[in-house]
Amino acid sequence: MKTQLFLRSLLTVLLIAVMLPHGYSQDNNLPNIRILATGGTIAGTGASATGSAYTSGKVTIDAMIDAVPNIRKLANLEGEQTANVGSQDMSVEVWLILANRINELLATDEVDGIVITHGTDTQEETAFFLNLVVKSDKPVIMVSSMRPSTALSADGPLNLYNGVAVAANPNSKGKGVMVVINDAIHSAHAVKKLLTTPVQAFMSPEHGLLGTVNFGLVEFFHEPHGIHTVNSEFSIDGVKELPRVDIVYGCADMSPDLIEIMVKAGAKGIVIAGVGDGNMNAGTLEAAKKATKKGIPVVRAARVPVGSVLIHGEVVDEDYGTVSSDELNPQKARILLMLALQKDKNMSREKLQELMINY
Ligand code: ASP
Repeated sequence: MKTQLFLRSLLTVLLIAVMLPHGYSQDNNLPNIRILATGGTIAGTGASATGSAYTSGKVTIDAMIDAVPNIRKLANLEGEQTANVGSQDMSVEVWLILANRINELLATDEVDGIVITHGTDTQEETAFFLNLVVKSDKPVIMVSSMRPSTALSADGPLNLYNGVAVAANPNSKGKGVMVVINDAIHSAHAVKKLLTTPVQAFMSPEHGLLGTVNFGLVEFFHEPHGIHTVNSEFSIDGVKELPRVDIVYGCADMSPDLIEIMVKAGAKGIVIAGVGDGNMNAGTLEAAKKATKKGIPVVRAARVPVGSVLIHGEVVDEDYGTVSSDELNPQKARILLMLALQKDKNMSREKLQELMINY
């Protein structure tokens, strides 16, 4: 009787031990991938399969995983709901929560890689931020979709499947944060959303793709450009917020007082989405000079979506105290400037320029 009882309890313990929280058995030959969900169109639903109206962030991560056939054959999966917003509402607060959670999970032996589900609108910003503050060489993959889950030919399920395949692939180690969408693998440094609504919205025009992923078959061609993750000098340990940095959008006859207005509102740094090669009209250039003289860094990026901003182009940065964003578009230059100012609010112009070139 005693032996029977003992065996029964042993069986129960063993059963519990091999079951994941959602009732799936653990395969010790597969990597353990944690999926952190933040919302976006990939978790969006609409009233009609052919209508364009929908709401982001409606489907939970468990429902998303369960909707993808064979995904559990790629890895042992566990989902966590970090946020559930359209990424137009992504914030520094969520970035810090996400990055801290990733660092915590990847520091353990139980997690081999992370997949983050996210909206496409600000995906490149979250990817770039994480690329600078995640302290692990384990894979961190961002996935998203252009069509909501209820749409005809929804692209989310295959993107999620491919994202998990990339996270589970041993060759994905040490490549920094990557974005997997539409069968392509992009680096956080190079990826850009260049089209508003088509499925092929993301490109890496300066550096090209890191690789491709076809129904889970992963192929890498290149290494990412720029310093990232374990080699990054930035840390969010104990950081509760980041200094405010605003972006001024350049155009013909732009208002030169915008820089001053933003500084008055509390901006500790300014990025100009300049015309052409990071240019701005004479009045704005003078306003930029005034700001830099007061110790407010001004970075010249470009509203042109592709290409880098020359250090000695039409603007000689030394004359105005400005910095070129090099390859970084305005939204990524803003993130780097926020982290740089968080690290050292009196960072020199030269050091800032070096960062823009190296990250
Ligand atoms: N507005 C959505 C978002 O970024 C768009 C998308 O996910 O495609 O969350």
